[in-house]
Amino acid sequence: MPILVMKFGGTSVATLDRIRRAAKRVGREVAKGYDVIVIVSAMAGRTNELVGWVDEISPLYDAREYDAVVSSGENVTAGLMALTLQEMGIPARSWQGWQVPLKTDSAHGAARIEEIPTDNIMAKFEEGMKVAVVAGFQGVSPEGRITTLGRGGSDTTAVAFAAAFGAERCDIYTDVDGIYTTDPRIASKARKLERIAFEEMLELASLGAKVLQTRSVELAMRYKVKLRVLSSFEDNDENAGTLVCDEEDIVESKVVSGVAYSRDEAKMTLISVADRPGIAAAIFTPLAEAGVNVDMIVQNISEEGRTDMTFSCPVDQVKRAERALQAAREAGEINYHDLVADTEAAKVSVVGIGMRSHAGVAAQMFRALAAEGINIKVITTSEIKISVLIERKYMELAVQALHDAFELEKAA
Ligand code: ADP
Ligand code: ASP
Ligand code: MG
Repeated sequence: MPILVMKFGGTSVATLDRIRRAAKRVGREVAKGYDVIVIVSAMAGRTNELVGWVDEISPLYDAREYDAVVSSGENVTAGLMALTLQEMGIPARSWQGWQVPLKTDSAHGAARIEEIPTDNIMAKFEEGMKVAVVAGFQGVSPEGRITTLGRGGSDTTAVAFAAAFGAERCDIYTDVDGIYTTDPRIASKARKLERIAFEEMLELASLGAKVLQTRSVELAMRYKVKLRVLSSFEDNDENAGTLVCDEEDIVESKVVSGVAYSRDEAKMTLISVADRPGIAAAIFTPLAEAGVNVDMIVQNISEEGRTDMTFSCPVDQVKRAERALQAAREAGEINYHDLVADTEAAKVSVVGIGMRSHAGVAAQMFRALAAEGINIKVITTSEIKISVLIERKYMELAVQALHDAFELEKAA
């Protein structure tokens, strides 16, 4: 039997009624002759609630216990989905990550998948089971502890299963009907894309578009998984949603194909550090060791041997960054006059493979922001993206202005 992977995100399993609706979709694919692997997320809001409880009990929590708590939301939906399917007369069974076992490394909270043995689930398919329901987002470490794959990780579970089982397709059911030129919740003019290249989706995801977890796109690209994003609320035909595919399979080609944003950014500046060889290493090594995800970095011009060093990181890592830098200062590893944290920043980025062969995109982006009176704090670029850090209150405006400036509402 051909195998299909179907993943349902939090809003698609938010209530028992929605679980029933999702199960009906699964039933239709079973009727077409597929053996289906269903990957489920926790009910909407549940993971946030669990994370909140962990933070409240233990702000500097033990990551192994964080994973024990935070992975539990998916267990509930997996069992409920299997029961719903059984009630519909479809032979179904649920699996938690450790039962598969979905093997990961030991990086609790952001573990990477190492192996997915297929024998266990395949044996059940051969015995007549039609649907394997797997709890997304979770796995088991070499030490035998439960791990989680980072927020949004059920997407990655789905793609990894599709690769391991050689599935015909991996369908990601969510609360929007595809991948758009930007988040349709922020820009009403956002346009749904029929197709998007892996490279572009990879950039959009890593720059904040949470419609797919970055790692899931990486895996789909590496293992050539046919990956589709579509609505769990609307009727879908064979061509519904958005297909993530190779660059060669894209007909439409614009210089900029999407705008992404990341709302909760902070800008930190070390005032007056000694400008000497090794200073960047002395600053960023303790930050890395503390698990701070440094993103943009700027070093100012130096005056009398001293300079300012600015970097950005997620706003919820500011405390950790401050602690790490203060410790390094006390240990005499670095020396600075002051550390200033601006916790009201956001990052907005434009992405497009067309930028490789087009000059002037950055200038056009900066003009569009200037026309709205938006000040740019930090800029970074790569081959197919340009990102700016701005004041958070202008984030929506910036996304809309850039969407307009690059005429993303129009097809190429
Ligand atoms: P799920 O719970 O199904 O995993 P997520 O909330 O993780 O769903 O992802 C879907 C959301 O991603 C959408 O509701 C939308 O607000 C957001 N999003 C951000 N950027 C985009 C984009 N370019 N296209 C579509 N959705 C986007
Ligand atoms: N429930 C997890 C989260 O909210 C994983 C997922 O939904 O993909 O991050
Ligand atoms: Mg998600």
